[in-house]
Amino acid sequence: MALLHIEKAGYCPRCLRTATWDDSELLSCDWCDETFIYDDVWDDFLDIDGRIIERKASIFLDELIEIARTKYNTDVVHINREQQKKVFRTGQRGGFVIEETQSWILLDGFADELDRIIILAHELGHAANFHHDYHRNQELYESHYGDPAGRMRREQSAWRYAVQLLKEVGFTRWEDFLSITSYSIGSYYETVWDPYKKWFIKEYNQEPVQFFPEKLEFMKSLQAKIS
Ligand SMILES: [Zn+2]
Ligand SMILES: [Zn+2]
Repeated sequence: MALLHIEKAGYCPRCLRTATWDDSELLSCDWCDETFIYDDVWDDFLDIDGRIIERKASIFLDELIEIARTKYNTDVVHINREQQKKVFRTGQRGGFVIEETQSWILLDGFADELDRIIILAHELGHAANFHHDYHRNQELYESHYGDPAGRMRREQSAWRYAVQLLKEVGFTRWEDFLSITSYSIGSYYETVWDPYKKWFIKEYNQEPVQFFPEKLEFMKSLQAKIS
């Protein structure tokens, strides 16, 4: 991840987005446009007047980041528009990236906090899928990239884990969650599965085998997990 230079970055104590360290104990957050002093005795951050920093970010972000780091060895990185141009497709707002033993979740730092919580939970769902279902076997995981059915199953798996993770941290904005999920998974049916299905029918004169539910059925199963 040389592109993002994350070896010299941390989480902003105020907004929890990615902020960069200089060579001393100073941490600068471009999102808050502020510089903070790290007090290693108290493991706290002070502002330049010596006051302990008040968090603006919600507990959900805190806890999801903590789960990412402790359970899935995954760091969360907020990226700006310039960085997004290099690593995101149009419309993409999050990503899960694996590099040997470490992995990263990339998040659109400009998204509002509720969106970032939901996107983070989804990407963390990919991390959970990679960890639990692939046993961190990167080669196997990536070998499924080109397989439309595999991609659909992985997306649905990530949303299922997202429900579990959000419940674990006490999240309650489920209407918002379902609306983002419906939009996101819908775009996968439209751009990944439907074109493949059309091609398959044309090529083989039959429908491809589908080991995952249709969108409506999938959304209902998620809703059932929530309530
Ligand atoms: Zn900040
Ligand atoms: Zn996804």
